[in-house]
Amino acid sequence: MAKKILFETDLKFLKKADEEIYNALISEKQRQMEGIELIPSENLVSQGVLEALGSIATNKYSEGYPGKRYYGGNEFIDVIENLAIERAKKLFTAEHVNVQPLSGSPANMAMYYALMELGDVFMGLKLTEGGHLTHGHPVNFSGRQYKCVSYGVDKTTEMLDYDAIKKLALEAKPKLILSGYTAYPRAIDFKAFREISDAVGAYCCADIAHIAGLCAAGVHENPVPYFDVVTTTTHKTLRGPRSAMIMCKNAFAEKIDKAVFPGLQGGPHEHVIAAKAVAFKEALEPSFRDYAAQIVKNSKALADVLIAKGLRLVSGGTDNHLILIDVFKSKSLTGKQVEHALELAGIYCNKNTIPFDSRTPWDPSGIRIGTPAITTRGMKETHMKEVGEFISKGIENASDPAKLAEIKAEVKEFCKAFPFYK
Ligand SMILES: *Cc1c(COP(=O)(O)O)cnc(C)c1O
Repeated sequence: MAKKILFETDLKFLKKADEEIYNALISEKQRQMEGIELIPSENLVSQGVLEALGSIATNKYSEGYPGKRYYGGNEFIDVIENLAIERAKKLFTAEHVNVQPLSGSPANMAMYYALMELGDVFMGLKLTEGGHLTHGHPVNFSGRQYKCVSYGVDKTTEMLDYDAIKKLALEAKPKLILSGYTAYPRAIDFKAFREISDAVGAYCCADIAHIAGLCAAGVHENPVPYFDVVTTTTHKTLRGPRSAMIMCKNAFAEKIDKAVFPGLQGGPHEHVIAAKAVAFKEALEPSFRDYAAQIVKNSKALADVLIAKGLRLVSGGTDNHLILIDVFKSKSLTGKQVEHALELAGIYCNKNTIPFDSRTPWDPSGIRIGTPAITTRGMKETHMKEVGEFISKGIENASDPAKLAEIKAEVKEFCKAFPFYK
């Protein structure tokens, strides 16, 4: 029996203060509880995290760092930020941590700002093959202010080819090599990236936004102890508030801290930092290791069900929390069509390009799903049969709104066994 967690989130003061926002939030909570959340970058946070996030720490200005602030009255704010830092250090075996970045993209901006000059060359994975916009895409600051030489995945295996990446690095001579991705379903060989970076004299960096929870729990290799700089969001598998942090070797501490403030940001969001500290405490508990291991077990079990349903998975499966489905090749439907059909069935995923996609990012060949949120709700391998069945039924009935509405009712019934917020 899954442990039932019931968190009170009744917003009784807001109900009186602002009925419109109250109603939208209550409807959103209902949507989250009555649907199957498969977006791999999403999760459900605890009531402790929510309370810290909604706390009076939002009232305070605290530009600077603990013990060195530009405003008075930071005695207790320093306690909060120091706890967040110390817990993050312990969680990832980090020498230095900056918990002030406002989100994943600004964290990456600070990393680049600290380590590179405008126009410098760096390497990251192509967006269409699993990289993030901030890993050098031309529409993003990262591709405009720096020169990005993107690497890709192998055409046959759809996995990283470390020899090809090394060859490209020897030619491009980048100042920084970035690993860590947004839509890559396989384990990353971080040691190979350290070797390649050393071979070309590049800073060895990672953005572990998606897999941070798995790294902290030892379910995926953790690059922090031997990489130069590692950024991460805190709201994906790490299951904290929507935010980020930067971890680095002591040698880079001063540069990173100066890049975040005063380089790019003003006052840190200490209410979010408080919520991060709470999430890090939760992630240090032994139960978080079980949670992270279960995410991967569920993901592998779900992949098996989907393959049995005749769906082609990019790279043939998964090693982590996410799965990329080539719906165009499998079912002659586009990612956009399937995202929409599943939404009507109360199943949430996102359209996503697949490697060497013949279609466009706005209407690609694939969808991306993952198990962090449903695992938080207490689902186990046995439930992946039902989840896979719902996905498959939704895809088969993509053009039948009445049938999709029926599935939505079944999904709602199924979700009742996994309550989370009351
Ligand atoms: C999600 C993600 C980000 C961006 O995080 P935001 O908080 O949305 O800015 C950066 N890098 C990777 C690899 C991500 O997956």
